Amino acid sequence: MIVGILGAGQLARMIALAGYPLGLKFIFLDPSKDACANSLGEHLHGDYNEPKLLEQLAKRADVVTYEFENVPADVAEFLAAHTQVHPSPKALAVAQDRLVEKTFFNSIDIPTPLYAPVDSLEELEFVMPTIGWPAILKSRRQGYDGKGQSVLKSTDDLKTAWELLEGVPAIVEAFVPFNREVSMIAVRNAAGAVVFYPLSENLHRGGILRTATCCEGDPMQQQAESYALRLLEALDYVGVLALELFEVDGQLMANEFAPRVHNSGHWTIEGSETSQFENHLRAILNLPLGSTAAVGQSAMVNFIGGLPDSKDIVSIPQAHLHLYDKAPRKGRKVAHATARTETSQQLINTVNQLVALANQTDNS
Ligand code: AMP
Repeated sequence: MIVGILGAGQLARMIALAGYPLGLKFIFLDPSKDACANSLGEHLHGDYNEPKLLEQLAKRADVVTYEFENVPADVAEFLAAHTQVHPSPKALAVAQDRLVEKTFFNSIDIPTPLYAPVDSLEELEFVMPTIGWPAILKSRRQGYDGKGQSVLKSTDDLKTAWELLEGVPAIVEAFVPFNREVSMIAVRNAAGAVVFYPLSENLHRGGILRTATCCEGDPMQQQAESYALRLLEALDYVGVLALELFEVDGQLMANEFAPRVHNSGHWTIEGSETSQFENHLRAILNLPLGSTAAVGQSAMVNFIGGLPDSKDIVSIPQAHLHLYDKAPRKGRKVAHATARTETSQQLINTVNQLVALANQTDNS
């Protein structure tokens, strides 16, 4: 079987690494000559909307998936008309636009922060008394890792924040004083079978994920599963989906979802019976889904912007290094390491050592 992937970054790389033991082959379409998954399969080099390459991909791949959500809608539609595409173009369309996404959450009774669409400075000024302070202004499209976002603390911030967006459609949302951020990685296959991973607790700095910790037996697990299930079924979703949530006083509200494997699920490679990457492949190939049971205690630490000596990382007992084969650059995720231990104390010790190393070279 041949799996086609739009994008050949680290997520595609880890999907391919999970697919090799299953006897799968991979074709990647990516505009970057030195994309880091290229060495793991055939690389179609060019833009995502180049008709010849899309035709080739559709003809040769038994199923096509993607590692990022900003695939142009017409590209996903074209591929879906010629081969199997999972998740569906509809799931992509909802996830690509924060306004459509939040409206969709609310339509299936998943709470979100209070939000309003804004297309001009005047509209922003008009809705702020209703949204309240502080708030966050976000571009509706193309935002990730906190890009295209400004925190609004008072009316003095409105003009500058609006101008930074350079006129693109936006939404403003109430700033949530959350106790913590968690994500639910859920998987559904084409036959409708669903599995959920233990919740992941996520720490961000500067809008970028720094650490993700597996929280087996978390009190919010059931609520998160019920939201994720609603989303999977409403979208007739096939594949891995990551639902990012804020916890506020024992209640969850949705921030966003990613229609793909997710950075907050990387610990599943060592910390779960079946990784999110393998389960994504099983889902899109309509195979039975693998157990998501936690194996020991685990957490993931991202290496951002730069890398310490690999020797220093692998010499930490119970640390598992994943290099992405990417040149270091400010704010760029270049590797992660998973700590998997037997006890919570060992986990804390191992994560502390990894974070100390990551901070040495983190220039974001
Ligand atoms: P996003 O790109 O929407 O995932 O936002 C990146 C990060 O900004 C989130 O993981 C949060 O840490 C923070 N953030 C986003 N929206 C809000 C909000 N409404 N209230 C508080 N923090 C937020």
